[in-house]
Amino acid sequence: MNKLTQHLLARIEAHGPMTVADFMGEALLHPTLGYYTTRDPLGADGDFTTAPEISQMFGELIGLSLAQAWLDQGAPAPFTLAELGPGRGTLMADILRATRAAPGFHAAAQIHLIEASPTLRAKQRATLSAEVTWHDNLDTLPDQPLFLVANEFFDALPIRQYQRGAEGWHERLVAMRDGTLSFALGPELPQPHLTHRLKDTIKDNIVETCPQAAAIADQIGTRIDNTGGVALVIDYGDWRAQGDTLQALQDHAFIDPLTAPGESDLTAHVDFEALAQAAPCAHSHLTPQGVFLERLGITARAQALATQLTGAALDSHIAAHRRLTHPEEMGNLFKVLALFPEGGTPPAGCTT
Ligand code: SAH
Repeated sequence: MNKLTQHLLARIEAHGPMTVADFMGEALLHPTLGYYTTRDPLGADGDFTTAPEISQMFGELIGLSLAQAWLDQGAPAPFTLAELGPGRGTLMADILRATRAAPGFHAAAQIHLIEASPTLRAKQRATLSAEVTWHDNLDTLPDQPLFLVANEFFDALPIRQYQRGAEGWHERLVAMRDGTLSFALGPELPQPHLTHRLKDTIKDNIVETCPQAAAIADQIGTRIDNTGGVALVIDYGDWRAQGDTLQALQDHAFIDPLTAPGESDLTAHVDFEALAQAAPCAHSHLTPQGVFLERLGITARAQALATQLTGAALDSHIAAHRRLTHPEEMGNLFKVLALFPEGGTPPAGCTT
């Protein structure tokens, strides 16, 4: 049993069962034992890999979409170029390289990263040569146009789970049974915020909410409506999540989420409907990642890069293109939602 499990069991003994959100928050961000706080989880040696780590093309195309949106909005200066949960800083580095050719973009951009993990902040500092300001959350971002990207950030935010009962809902909890962590159900209670889920669920179905995701979408949307800008949110999930989507990854394989808190990556599918509804600005259609990247010209970019490659490097470049776009790989599982000003147009790659 690892140290974080011991800590969580002691907490449950003292205070009773905890919500799935409290469990997830501790497992990911406990100051000394949390998953993100203590390690770099990305890449072949880590537990999972992400689109920017698979190919530079991902960040380059996102950079071009953001730069085009910035031009379309009159090239405001200065503006905030922000990323939520930047991991190793690879996506931002690719965005910055691809946008060097956009006149005035770099001179006007102030780079702001929202990152909770000191370990990953250090990685980002090493990757990015540009001047960067770090934040714990969006509260401290400057009051100016906001051009933002978040890849595989919202799936890491703590979710609450509710199982439908006869009249109300039972919250799913993490409790102690036989000396180990175990799921349990709380008492049946009315949950007015889940009224809209009565139509698409039956008894015993599980639904999830992510209060932090909704609060962050509200903040982004409010800023975009007040000062201009756009946000590109890329993650796995769908328009309205259904069922238990909490999952744990260790060494690129799924494990029971309660087995190794702090040593496995915990995520849940993103409910994009909830994000769109929480953001008081306009939003695009939910677009599959493969379609988004094709619209931005990934095939032409892939062909251009391929002319400089041979052998194993060429094979892995072709595999990366397929992995990002093919419907049976990340192309359909991952989705893009764009937020933009009311009355404005969505950024390139997304439609309304
Ligand atoms: N976007 C990167 C990394 C995804 S992993 C990529 O695509 O490769 C999730 C990232 O979000 C990590 O950098 C993690 O430390 C950060 N993170 C998770 N929860 C957070 C929170 N509540 N506040 C700020 N950053 C968070």
